[in-house]
Amino acid sequence: MAKEKFWLNIDLRTQRCTIHTANCSHRPHESEFKNVRSIGRDGGWMPFLDYSSILKYKSTHYPSFVLWACRRWDTRKKISEGKKAMGKRARARGVENVESGRKNL
Ligand SMILES: [Zn+2]
Repeated sequence: MAKEKFWLNIDLRTQRCTIHTANCSHRPHESEFKNVRSIGRDGGWMPFLDYSSILKYKSTHYPSFVLWACRRWDTRKKISEGKKAMGKRARARGVENVESGRKNL
């Protein structure tokens, strides 16, 4: 089984999705209303193999949510990974979302 590279923390109450890398100190954890690898009452942590899959999943299931990047994720690396992973049209929107999310952290 391939190993996940990212975890997306989906929060239904704040309507935010936050991207963490797999080696981030924020570890996926279950809580009363949040699950790991599935969505509970308040959301959950979902594993992803690449950045473009995160964007696809997020825009399919939570199109109105804000996409944030964990502040511990190095910004330059984040954007170059994101650009590599995305097609031309998705690129501008995805990176913009990540950057504006970061600005508000
Ligand atoms: Zn993190």
